[in-house]
Amino acid sequence: MIKEGQIGVSTGNIFPIIKKFLYSDHEIFLREVISNAVDATQKLKTLSDVGEFKGEQGDLSVRVSVDKEARTLTVSDRGIGMTAEEVENYINQIALSSANDFLDKYKESANAIIGHFGLGFYSTFMVASKVEIITKSYKDEPAVKWSCNGDPAYTMEECDKSDRGTDIILHIDEENGEFLEKGKIESLLEKYCKFLPVPIVFGKKQEWKDGKYVDTDEDKVVNDVNPLWKQKPAGLKDEDYQAFYRKLYPMSLDEPLFWIHLNVDYPFNLTGILYFPRIKNNIELQRNKIQLYCNQVFVTDSVEGIVPEFLTLLHGVIDSPDIPLNVSRSYLQSDSNVKKISNHITKKVADKLEEIFKKERTQFEEKWDSLKIFVEYGMLTEERFYDRAAKFSLLKNMEDKYFTLEEYKRVIEGSQTDKHGTLVYLYANNKEEQYTFIDAAKGKGYDVLMMDGQLDVHWMGLLEQKLEKTRFVRVDSDTVEHLIEKEEKSTVELTDKEKENLTEAVKSLVPPIAKTEFNVDFKSLGEAGRPIQITQNEFSRRMKEMSAMQPGMAFYGEMPDMYQM
Ligand code: ADP
Ligand code: MG
Repeated sequence: MIKEGQIGVSTGNIFPIIKKFLYSDHEIFLREVISNAVDATQKLKTLSDVGEFKGEQGDLSVRVSVDKEARTLTVSDRGIGMTAEEVENYINQIALSSANDFLDKYKESANAIIGHFGLGFYSTFMVASKVEIITKSYKDEPAVKWSCNGDPAYTMEECDKSDRGTDIILHIDEENGEFLEKGKIESLLEKYCKFLPVPIVFGKKQEWKDGKYVDTDEDKVVNDVNPLWKQKPAGLKDEDYQAFYRKLYPMSLDEPLFWIHLNVDYPFNLTGILYFPRIKNNIELQRNKIQLYCNQVFVTDSVEGIVPEFLTLLHGVIDSPDIPLNVSRSYLQSDSNVKKISNHITKKVADKLEEIFKKERTQFEEKWDSLKIFVEYGMLTEERFYDRAAKFSLLKNMEDKYFTLEEYKRVIEGSQTDKHGTLVYLYANNKEEQYTFIDAAKGKGYDVLMMDGQLDVHWMGLLEQKLEKTRFVRVDSDTVEHLIEKEEKSTVELTDKEKENLTEAVKSLVPPIAKTEFNVDFKSLGEAGRPIQITQNEFSRRMKEMSAMQPGMAFYGEMPDMYQM
């Protein structure tokens, strides 16, 4: 006998769970309430567009206010409001959202809606002991007052409210008094609401008068309703992008190198601007500066796992309603949409670099020293990117001339081949210390590359694997003397296990920027294509040497036993 049934939820139990565990960050309640107000406003605009709402829209600003004495925080909008029935449906039933119904109905003309899961509203109970809703629908129906003090029981009654729209009144509880502080709210608005599409007003603009700041009569709008990434690239100038960069990173002193304006609507929706920051060699990179938005609501500035590792070094914004943002990070990383988006971004970045390389090679070369760390990092960590970037990544020689891999091959083909037909790329990483060797090599008619970047050692290792018959040899190693004549020591193939240990070892050598899987082989730590076999002392010496070469970075790590002599 089969029994069928429906799993029941006991609201008495579910409430404390929602209150405690729904979101890890209490502060996001404000984002949720304001995004509901924005949704309600956007819906009103949509209804007005399709002629279903014929009245005056009036001032559609969303207003946030705090009353410290009454311990309340209020968010008011002039959106569509709710009828008693809608409150019954969408508020009294947890996890029911009106977003899908609305989008289904107004597919063609709907403005973007933030809500989705029907959970956001209840996040208010993380900070409030009591929540009141006073709402009046755009439909000609009485206003409703709903009130709940954090257990499943609520009250609902008709009330007086002449204006269309909704006030959400949060009675902030004892532990969360910080949310009654003006400064705190300002910083949250700055973080989450800076680019929302509807004006958000908090307090009055101030002016300097008689030695202090005083409020004026003018409302203070905290957001930019039409951020640059939402605008059409064709109408934008370089200065606009530079100004927007300063808006995103007020503390940054440098102009970005260049930028990519992302604008995709098929097969997923994605807009944004990615900036390549200017990096002086050997300066600690700042990662995770990209901000992720969902319909202009700030979601996170930790994009690890969402964009490919090497792109976390870029700056800028990504906005997509298709990234399921309200869910956990581990889910995000396995989501297929997210994977597609991430591949797409990688492709766009490669396209842009290739375009600049082809159209403005001189400019590209000028920027290469700043740029190359991204490109090398990308090539080391993303197969797909390697294939693209191999065409435009550059090698710089001692005369500061730049060559593509293909071009450079032709430069040394005739003169720098050993007896096995392997091309030998000579390089230096310290002009001052190695100048006698550099001069000697040049005297022999050889060309010497400059390889002093943070990732050059690893990159050369990668190129040795990828390019046929290619070896990188440091200019002061003894092989240079006998470049053509000397019999090579045979190389030892590493077993898989050894390679695995190697990768681990390399990872521990490379500072945080390069902590992903490199498929680097130990020979890139040694030289001349031989797997390294050295004493622990020698190993430590080299680590010190590498650290000295790269000011501000410490190389450390332990030599796996099997590589010790
Ligand atoms: P979601 O935003 O994901 O739909 P919420 O829990 O945040 O879920 O809100 C549930 C529903 O309550 C919304 O879908 C909307 O119908 C209604 N709602 C909440 N706030 C407002 C508001 N300020 N104006 C009109 N409707 C609102
Ligand atoms: Mg919501």
